[in-house]
Amino acid sequence: MTVTVSLAEQLRPVQHVVLDFDGPVCSVFAGFPAPVVANRLASGLGNAPDNWLAEEDPMALLRQVSAERPEATMAADELLERLEVEAVGTAEPTPGAEAVIRACAASGRRVWMVSNNAPRAIEEYLAARDLRQEVSGVFGRPIGDPSLMKPNPHLLLEMLAAASAEPTGCVFVGDAVTDVQAGLAASMPTIGYANKPGKDVALARAGATAVVDSMHVIAEALTRSSCV
Ligand SMILES: [Mg+2]
Repeated sequence: MTVTVSLAEQLRPVQHVVLDFDGPVCSVFAGFPAPVVANRLASGLGNAPDNWLAEEDPMALLRQVSAERPEATMAADELLERLEVEAVGTAEPTPGAEAVIRACAASGRRVWMVSNNAPRAIEEYLAARDLRQEVSGVFGRPIGDPSLMKPNPHLLLEMLAAASAEPTGCVFVGDAVTDVQAGLAASMPTIGYANKPGKDVALARAGATAVVDSMHVIAEALTRSSCV
């Protein structure tokens, strides 16, 4: 358990735990699969070209729409927001995620959400699980401007301003290379959550300060390194 011990040391000075939503908190599209969501998005926009209809990643499709037909960006983003709200109704909670959130409260730390998902979807998920009051702030993508999504550090910088915090007093937990990139751009250390084979190497190479394969490991480290 040396990994946990070093992680506990790393987390000792941390007062703000910042969680990416899809992955570290839940699997958003567990019951309403991402390719189906992407297809509903493309077909809902009218005159969708073949490359939109072939795209299986809803966020990638939103970026494509914004790049190729900027005037359709707001309508696409609002439709995706509605689809995400529908998706979180059947999202699958990540094992250990709630333990991390509760461990933060128990150890005197604050929890924040920074995600490329729509704020309304995140809020609804948290409220449905009675977790909203444990989270100090939710920073989801600004609807209508996908350029501000991670790897852009915009959302992390907004969180820092809201918390009046220095990045060194925070840790970001994300499951994507773009999370690590956003963390680096905001000077915030990022723990990689490797929830699929091969992700550990990619997240470490991107610059994650630690990589775990279970959110329970983070919960345990937070409990061991109480900052109160
Ligand atoms: Mg994620």
